[in-house]
Amino acid sequence: MYYADPADEGEPSSGYFYGYSIPFLFISILFLSCQEKRKNEIVNQPVVLRDTSRLKQKKPSPVAIKPKKKKKKIYLTFDDGPNKGTKNVLDIVQQEEVPVTFFIVGEHVFASPGQSQVWDSLKMAKNIELCNHSYTHAHNRYNKFYQQPDSVVNDIMRTREELLPETNIVRTPGRNTWRIDSLHFTDIKKSKAAVDSLQQAGFIVFGWDLEWHYDHKTLQVKNTADEMLTQVDSMFSRGKTKVKDNLVILAHDQVYHKSGDSMQLRDFIQKLKKKDDYELALVSSYPGIMKGMIDSVRTAPQ
Ligand SMILES: [Zn+2]
Repeated sequence: MYYADPADEGEPSSGYFYGYSIPFLFISILFLSCQEKRKNEIVNQPVVLRDTSRLKQKKPSPVAIKPKKKKKKIYLTFDDGPNKGTKNVLDIVQQEEVPVTFFIVGEHVFASPGQSQVWDSLKMAKNIELCNHSYTHAHNRYNKFYQQPDSVVNDIMRTREELLPETNIVRTPGRNTWRIDSLHFTDIKKSKAAVDSLQQAGFIVFGWDLEWHYDHKTLQVKNTADEMLTQVDSMFSRGKTKVKDNLVILAHDQVYHKSGDSMQLRDFIQKLKKKDDYELALVSSYPGIMKGMIDSVRTAPQ
């Protein structure tokens, strides 16, 4: 006998299955299959962390983008060495680690063994510059010296050839004169022709804005370090320098062979270093003096 188990009565449903459910099932399987595939694709994708660095970056504050304040430059220069005070000056500037320039008198290098020794120390020292201050210093007879432009050029050329072939920066003895590019200045007009000849020979003539005066009999400074600082501030604020924000100081190293004057020099340098607005510099970085001009003397007519 066949007993139809109600549980087996699935035909109507089978009929339904075949009649309506097969397409539905097919679509469902397809849908589920696509969903599964998509899930796998997502799972298998490499993990890419979102770049949030840009979001985290703060806008630079106005303080950060503020341009650095340009410092005023001071060129500390010492004339007439090597002599008694030169070693003291060299020791002070090296200990204080400041750049300075020495304008050398050729004859002084050979005047005594002590001076030759100082010359050797100068040549070995770092952070200083050595420039030309003639060979004879006109033997301090300036009017006569500047009457003969050719002999002025020859005198300065001698120091260049014998001692300082690397520089054509010159300071004229006893005269504040300038020949740098378009900067022309002659304090005493009688020396103009001679200084023009130096420029024609390819030399850069470098004067000064402010002198640290001294008593020519006692060889002592006339101004204290504080007085000099006041003068420096005043020259900058009144715009009295040859080139704006650049100030050249003339000092003479023979003045600083005594301890009192040396102390004034050290004090002056230390106080300059503390001033944020100022920085000391070598003369070759003065505006208009280009490194490319250094070799011009070699090709100049003799
Ligand atoms: Zn001099």
